[in-house]
Amino acid sequence: MNFYKDNDDLRYYAEEAIDWGLLTELSEYRLGEDPEGFANAEEARTFYLEILEMFGEVVAEQVAPRIPSIEDEALRIEDGEVVEPAATREIFALFRELGLFGLPVPRELGGMNAPMVSYFLTAELLARADVSTMTHYGFHAGIAMAMLVYSLDEKTTRFDRETRTLLSTRWEDDIRKIVAGEAWGSMDITEPDAGSDMAAMRATARRDEDGNWFVSGQKIYITSGHGQYHIVIARSEPDREGLDALSLFLVRAWEDTPEGRRRHVVIDRVEEKLGHHGSATCALSYEDAPAELIGKRGEGFRGMLVLMNNARIGVGFECIGLAECALRIAREYAAERRSMGKSIDRHEMIADYLEEMQTDIQAMRALAVHCAVHEERHRKRRLWLDHLPPSDEETRRAWEREEEESRAISRNLTPLLKYYAAEKAVEIAQRAIQILGGAGYIREYGAEKLLRDAMVMPIYEGTSQIQSLMAMKDHLMGMLKDPKAFLARVAEARWQSRFAPDPLGRRVARLRSSALDAQRTLLMRTAADKVRAVRHKPLDQWADAFLKQWNPKRDFAFAMLHAERFTRILVDAAVAERFWAQAQEHPHRREVLERWLERAEPRVRFLEDEIRNTGERLLARLAEGSAASEAAE
Ligand SMILES: Cc1cc2nc3c(=O)[nH]c(=O)nc-3n(C[C@H](O)[C@H](O)[C@H](O)COP(=O)(O)OP(=O)(O)OC[C@H]3O[C@@H](n4cnc5c(N)ncnc54)[C@H](O)[C@@H]3O)c2cc1C
Repeated sequence: MNFYKDNDDLRYYAEEAIDWGLLTELSEYRLGEDPEGFANAEEARTFYLEILEMFGEVVAEQVAPRIPSIEDEALRIEDGEVVEPAATREIFALFRELGLFGLPVPRELGGMNAPMVSYFLTAELLARADVSTMTHYGFHAGIAMAMLVYSLDEKTTRFDRETRTLLSTRWEDDIRKIVAGEAWGSMDITEPDAGSDMAAMRATARRDEDGNWFVSGQKIYITSGHGQYHIVIARSEPDREGLDALSLFLVRAWEDTPEGRRRHVVIDRVEEKLGHHGSATCALSYEDAPAELIGKRGEGFRGMLVLMNNARIGVGFECIGLAECALRIAREYAAERRSMGKSIDRHEMIADYLEEMQTDIQAMRALAVHCAVHEERHRKRRLWLDHLPPSDEETRRAWEREEEESRAISRNLTPLLKYYAAEKAVEIAQRAIQILGGAGYIREYGAEKLLRDAMVMPIYEGTSQIQSLMAMKDHLMGMLKDPKAFLARVAEARWQSRFAPDPLGRRVARLRSSALDAQRTLLMRTAADKVRAVRHKPLDQWADAFLKQWNPKRDFAFAMLHAERFTRILVDAAVAERFWAQAQEHPHRREVLERWLERAEPRVRFLEDEIRNTGERLLARLAEGSAASEAAE
């Protein structure tokens, strides 16, 4: 069995759609010159595909069979340290043997220097066996790459421009340790009173007279928090407000002394959870834990986003793996199980569920791969521009444009991917249970585990609601910044929806047009509410009140109410664009585009209707409540 070879849609990306040549050019600074590297791009591509094939087999043959015992053996704490299930230890020993922890890490640091995209594809393969194992796997190379990116950003990594080799980087020894499979890290943000609201964070960092930093406080729900390296966000600037008061730190959880291990980060407990049983979710305490400042003071939130962005893309792939597993369990069962004279996959409603599940998984993958490719292009092009710039001005300008475009695409798609993949993982897992009927509820068949595991997807790495708010805000701000460009896009979409030569192209343009209309409705309604709010003021104060005095909590109420509906429209349109782009290059993709449009078109009409015609009553009630509480204050 091989989880890569049996998956045609995944193979389409790996073998046809992904431009490995471009990713190789970005990743291999010394293509054809490094004796340990590849002679050319074709050799590199062959290697990346071999990795996927090998990984697909290892996961199917050696990881998946071990997962049921992870469900049986709970994680526990002994002498202050987390003890993982035996199966987890075996799986990670195998990964260590195969050298998989350094897949995307540069060769100079002991890794394989493969593109991040190939690493994300391995994440999908692993998640098909078990998402909790995949999460822990992610906190190896993910943290090593974050350390490298932070060091690149703060310019503490040195390159030799002549030979185009990485000479040194700030956390080199630590990265090597992770690559060797001897350590891993975690991302410590959440606190008992600060989850989505990061500005409410209480953990503090203080600096002594010698310039050394120390972190104190508590963090909860930290995945893989039993590791050595903690990337921690804490309040370091008492004289600043909100997110500007936060900085990012690297905290080493312990020191090994001749007397034994001395912990600076204490594991208070491992949480007992609904699912994700192979992943340690830790509550941690720091008391004056020695810390290293990452980047600049007060820029912790920005730094955290670097790590979170990649983690959100990772969650996208994690959801695909889980959903793929759910679909396969459901499909196999439905083909065997008979009811009323035929197998249940021949009953119309079940056939409809199965087809929708397949289409949604293909949509998740389309968004995820596109987003991952552009995130990689943005990051690696930036690296070239900052550290290995081209000698001629024209190339430099072309690279700057490429970097900017890719950054915008990745920024636009990341919240859509995280939102959509997470919501669909839950829905698809639930559908799988329904298709299995009573067997879906029984442990032996494996479907119930998938729903338990899926339930956290819309919660961690920024909840679905927070992703929707981000997508909505980004779109409205973009429109306000450049209204002319927005109107040009509206006109172009209208034109294409009527006159594009290909009927599928016209339908895709109509969805694009609907997304732009919804965006305009949100902004117009927000502006109308603001006009209503300033009406009672003297006329000479209108300009100031309208242009400057915006209260984000009140004035954007309509847009915030409908942010999730708007995000779903954006997803429907963005996926259609992806499938359309694929169909133009590979005509066999027209079939999935048609399947997608058939479901997306009525869905978008319904969502548009909801945005236009619901919410007045609720908003009026909320406004009354706010006015009453303001009056009471
Ligand atoms: C298994 C697991 C692993 C985790 N791993 C990590 C980790 O590695 N590192 C880490 O730092 N954290 C981790 N977390 C924590 C996770 O990121 C948080 O639970 C999440 O950010 C939500 O925060 P919260 O639980 O405080 O919920 P809250 O922020 O209290 O939110 C509760 C509900 O209110 C909604 N809400 C909040 N604000 C708004 C708003 N403005 N508009 C609309 N709705 C809103 C939320 O969407 C949610 O539905 C993990 C959690 C779990 C369960």
